[in-house]
Amino acid sequence: MMEKIQNPYIQYMYSYPHKTAYRPLQGIFLEDYAHLLAGKSHGLYLHIPFCQAKCGYCNLFSVTGQNEQQIDRYLVAVGRQIDQYQEILKPYHTEFSEITIGGGTPLLLSERQLEQIFDKMETGFAFSGRRGLVVETAPNQTCREKLAVLKRAKTSRVSMGIQSFSDEELKVLGRNHPAATAREAMDLLKEAEFSCVNVDFIYGIPGQTISSLLASLKEALRYEPDEIFLYPLYVKHGTGLASVVDTGLVLNPGLAFRQYQEAAAFLCSEGFRQDSMRRFVREKGKKAARGFSECGFGTSLALGCGGRSYIGSLHFCTPYAATQQGCWEQLEKFENTTDFSAVTHGFLLSDDEMRRRYAIRHLLIRPGMDMSAYEKHFGTCVMDDFPVLGEWRQQGFLKAEDIFLVLTQVGLGLSDYLGPQLISRQVWERMREWDAAWENRRQIRETARQGE
Ligand code: SF4
Repeated sequence: MMEKIQNPYIQYMYSYPHKTAYRPLQGIFLEDYAHLLAGKSHGLYLHIPFCQAKCGYCNLFSVTGQNEQQIDRYLVAVGRQIDQYQEILKPYHTEFSEITIGGGTPLLLSERQLEQIFDKMETGFAFSGRRGLVVETAPNQTCREKLAVLKRAKTSRVSMGIQSFSDEELKVLGRNHPAATAREAMDLLKEAEFSCVNVDFIYGIPGQTISSLLASLKEALRYEPDEIFLYPLYVKHGTGLASVVDTGLVLNPGLAFRQYQEAAAFLCSEGFRQDSMRRFVREKGKKAARGFSECGFGTSLALGCGGRSYIGSLHFCTPYAATQQGCWEQLEKFENTTDFSAVTHGFLLSDDEMRRRYAIRHLLIRPGMDMSAYEKHFGTCVMDDFPVLGEWRQQGFLKAEDIFLVLTQVGLGLSDYLGPQLISRQVWERMREWDAAWENRRQIRETARQGE
């Protein structure tokens, strides 16, 4: 496989289109799309863009060094946004079924701040009876007192980045905690008995071997997490790692792919079900395949700076920022915003882009795509719309099972190689344009630094 495909790591298709393809929008207001948030089953996302220190590989929207008062200022702006959104949604009787609080490091907030923001969301919006609450945490911020706040708020799922149990590998990644802190945090999470705990690990770390990766996973299993996510290490623009290692998105794709294969086989042998290239779910009791759930048109409204909203064909968020300076500027703009109903940056998906999004979201996750559901939504056959799928079948990456199109085990491991083949030309052009502009700015900064 690897002889033919030189690099299986082209692009993580986390969400389509990528944020770097978003552009300024004019004359669009949340009111125009609010009817799509009528009734039940919508997601609410709150972005907390603060971290204690920036990890070496991180290109997420987060800043470091904020004190409690500065975080309070951010929460005041989020509160203002909640008040305005609440007014806009009132006529549509919107009920959210899940809240996700991500970042950044949400538990960097003090207990008072956490309680305050939970309270503000709960009183500002309506929720379906058994709403889910997902909160991300990090080893340094996982303490008994904050977990108690999460329990009181009825958190259903806690997600923590461990990345590795090797101190050397954590150092290479630029994580600011030793493995011992992650162990203590896992003990606390286990003691708190959340209904779902998931942990993230990284492979493809310089110096990491297959056996050190497996050692980390074996150690993780001692804490019985419900889900494990495995991420290949991409070295992205503007990250600390990009300035100290040679360029290249995944540094040694051949070794990373072998690490992935060994890790996936290990987790499956330990009773985990593989739902995607990254996600492994612990089977409880009788083994069951993941059921089909429609995820191509899900709606999600984001609060705060840096989170994305998906409402029908409208996707929006604050402009993508890859440097601390860029994040600071966006944060300041957000905190000074008086009118949150104007949508000023995003992407309006055409019918073609909606089809691509639907295909990407279903094909890369098991149980795959229900072809009849696709035809019902779009009135055409997915195989005709995407001739490349025929090639994937011939190459052994995709198979048909009854009415489902499902990636084979080999295809699943190549998700970051196959998924990008479904990106439209327009989106590729925008992403490349953004990359070129970023490189240009980087060179100007570099020249200025050398002249100092
Ligand atoms: S990886 Fe997570 S904890 Fe590290 S800087 Fe990024 S958002 Fe913060």
